[in-house]
Formats: sequence, C-alpha cells, structure tokens
Amino acid sequence: MKKPSVLIVDDRPENLLTLEQVLESPELEVVRAESGHQALEKTLDYDFALILLDVQMPVMDGYETATLLRGNKRTKNIPIIFVTAANKEEAHVFRGYGSGAVDYLFKPLAADVLKSKVTIFLELDKQRQLLEEKTKELDAKVVELETLKHELEDSNERLRQLSSLDGLTDLPNRRFFDETLVREWQRGRRRQKPLTLIIADIDHFKAYNDAYGHVIGDDCLKKVAKGLDKSILRDVDTIARYGGEEFAAILPETDQEGGILIARRMLKTIDEMNITHEHAATTDHVTISLGLATTIPTDDSNATQLIQSADRALYRAKASGRNTFKVD
Ligand code: GH3
Ligand code: MG
Ligand code: MG
Repeated sequence: MKKPSVLIVDDRPENLLTLEQVLESPELEVVRAESGHQALEKTLDYDFALILLDVQMPVMDGYETATLLRGNKRTKNIPIIFVTAANKEEAHVFRGYGSGAVDYLFKPLAADVLKSKVTIFLELDKQRQLLEEKTKELDAKVVELETLKHELEDSNERLRQLSSLDGLTDLPNRRFFDETLVREWQRGRRRQKPLTLIIADIDHFKAYNDAYGHVIGDDCLKKVAKGLDKSILRDVDTIARYGGEEFAAILPETDQEGGILIARRMLKTIDEMNITHEHAATTDHVTISLGLATTIPTDDSNATQLIQSADRALYRAKASGRNTFKVD
C-alpha cells in the first residue's frame, strides 16, 4: 500500500510550518497549499487521505474551498478537518458541517489532539483502501471464474462432439451408427452371416412439430427413442438416432425373418405408447414407418448399399399408408 498523503491548507506559512512539525512522520507525506486555489490544484496530483483546511483565508475561504472539493467526483470523499481561529460558535461549526466537513480543530492547535485526530482519519483511509483492493481482487476473481466457466462449457461441448451419444435421446448417434455398421458389415462378411438393417421414421412428424412446437416435438422424439430401444433385446443389436426423426437398428447375425420380428415389435411398441397426434393425416396418435433390408455381406457389396436398400423399403412403407414396415 502506498504512503498516505495529507494536504494542509493555510494562507499563513508559519501555520503551515506548525502543522508540518506536528504531523511529520516517515509514514506520511505532508503536502502544503497556501490558498484554496492551490489546494484544488494539488488534488489533481495526489490522492489525499485527509485535508486540513484553514477556514479564514483571503480570496477563497475554507468553506468555499470545501464546497468545490465536495462538488468534484475525484475529491468529494476526502475527509476534511476545518482548522479555525474563530471562537467555538455553533453557527460556524454548523456552516462547516453543512459544506461537508467531518471534523473541526481550533487554533491554537493542541498537538496531541491534532495528532490523534489525524491518526484516526488515516486509519479510516487505510481501511477504505484495503476494502477497495479486496473489491478489485474479487472483481478479478469473478472475471477469472467467468473465463473458467466458458472454458468448461467449451470442453463439455467438445466432449459431447467426441462422444458417441446423441444429446437429445441418449441413443448412439449417427457417427457411432456409421462406425458400427462398417464393423458389423466386415464381421458378417468374414463369418458369412446375415446382417439386417431397419430404418424407422416417425409419420407426419412435421405436422406434429408445427402443431405442438419443437419442445414437445423433442419430447416425443425421446419417447419414441425409448420405445425403439425397448424393442431391441440382444446385446449385439444397435439402435441409433440416424437423423432428425429417423432411427436405425443394426441387427447382426439376424436374417429377414428375425428382422421382421423386431420390426413388428417396434411398430407395436410405438403404437401402444399412444402419443396423441391430432394433426396426423392417417391416425390420432404417433406412429412410425419402417424399411427393412437384409444381406449376407460380400466383397462386391458395401454397407451403403444396405442403407439404400432399407431406405427404398421405408419409402414404400410410407407410400402404402404408414404405420407399417416393408422389406426391400
Ligand atoms: P412422413 O410421415 O412422410 O415421415 O412426414 P414427416 O412430416 O414426418 O417428414 P418430414 O421429413 O417432412 O419432416 C420431418 C420433420 O421432423 C421436420 C422437423 O419438423 C422434424 N424434426 C427433425 N428433427 C427434429 C428434432 O431434432 N426435433 C424436433 N422437435 N423435430 C425435428
Ligand atoms: Mg424423415
Ligand atoms: Mg417422418
């Protein structure tokens, strides 16, 4: 903390000298001014902890000086002790307080009274400075915490992107689906086992969103995701969120017959959830359509072809009136 400074103002140099002598201390910088004008000038160069202000001065007296100090943002909080040679008339005292004084000292000055008063004000100023520093430290901490919070949000977002789960439904996401399909494709090819893919798409979901709004729409997606997840029983099966309102199931070592079983179960589960959809063209509740494709992977075919095949079947399921499945 820097050394506190005190401004002493008096038009008579001998008075300034007396004040200086009493106040002199290595921990204190005493700055002098011989008029109100000079006093105001000095406040531009120093942050005073206290001003000792002579009341009787020519041109601009102590009260006028104090009024100007109070009117300035930079100086309005500096405590002032008026020093006066006048008798202790109440009127005077009140005039002083009225212009913002915090204390009064009477000439001739008693050194011990002056010293103890100044000490109290300096102590107050020290406390104020400490408080200011603490406030600044706290402000800095708040900024630091804000920064940390943003960093945390960023890394959470990056984690989510790296993760294989879909944020809304908690099902595996598209990225995971793509990887799994390629892996299962290769395994099926090596073992010459059938691989079945089912793509599920919610019927008239645009109308659902338009009627109930996106929040309820998202809720519906979550419910459908749960229902589809429930319809799949084997550990090796994967049900993922494939797109907006589309889901896809990878069923390794499953032939067409097995796939149809699962497809029927999916249709039934969602149908029985009976999620109200008053704006569907075909029913009064949410339904899905499914496209199913089965293949034994070979060297000449690939996973993309399996997806295209399931997509074709889905298209036919839609065309045939929805809430049903088709096999390609
Ligand atoms: P169809 O029966 O032929 O499948 O018609 P549809 O309206 O379901 O299909 P379409 O592809 O025209 O619309 C899909 C709609 O799904 C568009 C959009 O409103 C909604 N959707 C897609 N992704 C999301 C999502 O993440 N949240 C919500 N709330 N809605 C989504
Ligand atoms: Mg769709
Ligand atoms: Mg749809």
